Amino acid sequence: MEKRLHKFLSNKEKRIEILKLSGVKDVITNKITPTQKRDYLDEIYEKYKDCQRCILAEKRNNFVLGEGDADANIMFVGEGPGAQEDKTGRPFVGKAGKLFTKMLSAIDLSRQDVYITNIVKCRPPKNRDPRADEIKACLPFLYQQIKIIKPNLICALGKVAGNTLLEKQTSLSNLRNSIFTFQNTDLMVTYHPSALLYHPNWKRPAWEDLKKLRDKYL
Ligand code: SF4
Repeated sequence: MEKRLHKFLSNKEKRIEILKLSGVKDVITNKITPTQKRDYLDEIYEKYKDCQRCILAEKRNNFVLGEGDADANIMFVGEGPGAQEDKTGRPFVGKAGKLFTKMLSAIDLSRQDVYITNIVKCRPPKNRDPRADEIKACLPFLYQQIKIIKPNLICALGKVAGNTLLEKQTSLSNLRNSIFTFQNTDLMVTYHPSALLYHPNWKRPAWEDLKKLRDKYL
């Protein structure tokens, strides 16, 4: 029944429904200053750092909300924290994170210029993909982050992030090379940096994606 109802709701209605279900308060974000944006994000962190909405709370050491410029033009969204991220409470700081930082600097960006976060804020055991129920429980945080930051571009890193935001179930190759729209914001999808560690031959197409991002949004 819930599934059928969902089918007929607009994306906006679905988002509101998810926020209601989760109990995360929707914030009013018209014309807010960068300082207010930072304060809103800090508020989310303080309020939800001990979140118990899904099973991932059981083994996490840190709730990893995200970091970077609260007023960023570009927001990167990965899948979930890994071991180093769980240990430090910071996104993209492990081996893949170091590669990601290098990729950013190749297009003259630093981590402080962008905002970096994940679909789920707590580490899935053994770095498995987050499950649908975990994603559903955690998405309200990401929706709020996007609403607060209001980036010009969301760049989803990897298939899980891309499919979640676009409500699709398809391959990364079907998601790359297009500009989609998410909540009136451009959205593109590229490789997750951890995939590039295992498949160095994907670095070239990843670089092509970054060049497109640079040419259109920087
Ligand atoms: S993954 Fe998200 S929903 Fe689950 S416990 Fe962590 S913060 Fe809460």
